[in-house]
Order: sequence, then structure tokens, then C-alpha cells
Amino acid sequence: MTSHCIFCKIIQKSLPSQIVAETDDILVIKDISPKAPIHYFFLPKKHIKDLRELTPDDSKMAANLLLMAGILAEKENTAFRLVVNNGEEAGQVVFHAHVHFLAGKKMKHDF
Ligand code: 5GP
Ligand code: ZN
Repeated sequence: MTSHCIFCKIIQKSLPSQIVAETDDILVIKDISPKAPIHYFFLPKKHIKDLRELTPDDSKMAANLLLMAGILAEKENTAFRLVVNNGEEAGQVVFHAHVHFLAGKKMKHDF
């Protein structure tokens, strides 16, 4: 928990969010400004800035992030795209690592 991090506050439930799924190590919420008909993101409950801070101790949680994508895609019966922005240059705005899950529209084959 980092006191100035909005995603830590969402994880602690001291800020509201629309929760889609929750496990011991991950919270999935709806993005406040969706870029696709389905736009969730997966938050590791542990505060790390971006994926460059992952350590081998996080390997289970990191695998669980990918497994969560499969679970939700199965539930929503949809194809999907995962996006992770790591660092300001890459478009990251909130510096608590998160995995975007985008679905529900035809996506172009580019970035
Ligand atoms: P980034 O650009 O850092 O990968 O993505 C940050 C995402 O967080 C954006 O898609 C933005 O819409 C979303 N976001 C920012 N503040 C909040 C918030 O308070 N609640 C929710 N649910 N999403 C937020
Ligand atoms: Zn945080």
C-alpha cells in the first residue's frame, strides 16, 4: 500500500470502483473511461510501479494475471486484447501496474 496511489486506495476500498472479480492477489475493476465496450483492468494487490519491478517472488501473481484474462474471456464469451503500459513513454498514467482487458469490438491489427 502506497498512501498516494489511487489504485492502492481502490484496492483498500477507500475509493469506490466497479469490481468485476477479486482474488487473494488481484482485483479486477471496470475502467472509468472505457476504450472498448468491455474495458477492465487487473490490479495486483501488491503495489508495484510497473512490470519492471516484478521479481521471481511475484511469479504466481504474474501468472494469475494471465489466467484471469482467460477466465473472464470464457465468462464473457469473447476475444480480447491485453495491454500493459510500462512507464510514461509507453503511455502509463497511473503508476501502479495494471493489465488492461479490452473486448467487445473489432480491433485493428496495429498498435
Ligand atoms: P494507464 O494509461 O496508466 O495504462 O491507464 C490508466 C487507466 O486508469 C486509464 O484507462 C484510466 O481511464 C483509468 N483510471 C484512472 N483513474 C481511475 C479511477 O479512479 N477509477 C477507474 N476505475 N479507472 C481509472
Ligand atoms: Zn498502488
